[in-house]
Amino acid sequence: MPAMLDDPTAPAIYRVSGPAPYPVPFGPLPTEIQVRQVTLRDRVTIATLIPFSSPNQVPPKLTAYLCELLNREIKKGDTYPMMEPLPLSSFGPYWFANFGAVMIMGEVNSVEEIMRMEERGEDWPSKCLGSFYVKPNYPGRSSHVCNGGFLVTDAARNRGVGRLMGECYLEWAPKLGYTYSVFNLVYETNVASLRIWDALGFKRIGRVKGCGNLESYPDQFIDAIIFGRELGGEGDEYVSEERFDKIRFYLKTGTYPNGSDRAEKSRLRSAATHYKIVPNADGNDEEDKLMLKGKEVISDPHKQYEIARAAHAQSHGGINKTTATIAEKYHWVRIKETVSAAIRNCTECKEPTPGTKPSPFATRERRTPGKSNEQSSSSRTPRNSQPISSDGVEQVVAGADPHPEQQQQPAPMAPMHFQASDYGDMPVDPQIMAGMHHSWQDSNANGSQPMLVDGEDDAETRLREELEAQMMRDQHQDVYASDLKGQQDRAFSTDEVPD
Ligand SMILES: [Zn+2]
Repeated sequence: MPAMLDDPTAPAIYRVSGPAPYPVPFGPLPTEIQVRQVTLRDRVTIATLIPFSSPNQVPPKLTAYLCELLNREIKKGDTYPMMEPLPLSSFGPYWFANFGAVMIMGEVNSVEEIMRMEERGEDWPSKCLGSFYVKPNYPGRSSHVCNGGFLVTDAARNRGVGRLMGECYLEWAPKLGYTYSVFNLVYETNVASLRIWDALGFKRIGRVKGCGNLESYPDQFIDAIIFGRELGGEGDEYVSEERFDKIRFYLKTGTYPNGSDRAEKSRLRSAATHYKIVPNADGNDEEDKLMLKGKEVISDPHKQYEIARAAHAQSHGGINKTTATIAEKYHWVRIKETVSAAIRNCTECKEPTPGTKPSPFATRERRTPGKSNEQSSSSRTPRNSQPISSDGVEQVVAGADPHPEQQQQPAPMAPMHFQASDYGDMPVDPQIMAGMHHSWQDSNANGSQPMLVDGEDDAETRLREELEAQMMRDQHQDVYASDLKGQQDRAFSTDEVPD
């Protein structure tokens, strides 16, 4: 038997503890779980998450594509403990036996529509953005504790797909009757994955020393992190922007949105105490304002983008300045991401005006953040001199589920790979960074490199020290120093955490 996460030929475990009713294998899903439209990081592209309760519902060619992706991860040897690929016949039952979701580009309205797309010969590698599963992490009396596995495709590069699937996992897992989530095996070299779980409120509940003998680190053993998170409990805020719309609905109508279960109603009641509705006095047709601690809550991604664009256009300020300006009046999750997108698309910041001498601020802001990262990192040699995966993809493992009858096997894992971390938009001035020897910006800003093996904390400490030393050297240039400080703040900011 090859070393698999778990034995893919073993019968699946189903939830038999926690809240009733218990799932019927291959049976219907709870009615609250429906196909769901989401907006990608560009705030424009629509994608759909389609839930499946059985491998039989998933079109064969789509299944084969996902199997191929998983096996590619296994072959790279940096995220999964398995060493041998999974046969196609085992993949469907392994991934979809309990519950699996697939993210497809565009608007898809039903499971049946997915089948019709396959019959029409849909090109899944260009349409499929990712997939995740939810299954019990333990059997029997502990089967209400779940595990998730995640896979992000090549077409999903840089689009926030991993984060969106993580949010959806947190919303659907409690609806499937799970009360707690464990990811058993996230190798510490998968920084993008660690960041996502940290940001989504998972706690690091354990560390397995030297757990990974990975392909890219042949001479050392890599620690693995165990993540845990309560699901759908009291005071557990919604993690997506959608929660604002639900709160608004609840405050305005005094009733719960359709499909709210008891836990969700309870969460809504508790969350709503922090918000209030202010009648819209502007005289236009817009709806009343939802306020959180004196700030207007903006839940519409397009409106968020427009506000960010307008705030940036006032003075073409950098990411921190623009974010701070917005945060004085408005609230939404991940303002900085929106600002970053707005700056990236700013035509005036893209092309320096000929004949004008830019200020130090303007110099930095004229660089397209994402572009300068790519350029600077593509020309660099990673400090750990590990081979870069051919597609520049950072692999991420999200979880594992040991089954008692398979205790001697490595636990099944939840792989997730990201092409870029949430820090992919961090503005980096090559001039400022020229003197730095470490590969932090490769691993943090570009996300295409494995993280330094001695850990992100050490790397950040070194970076901070270097930045401080540099600031000392440049202290006489006040403007420059404050500019640098802004970058430093950005570099260590943890505001990706949803509130
Ligand atoms: Zn601009």
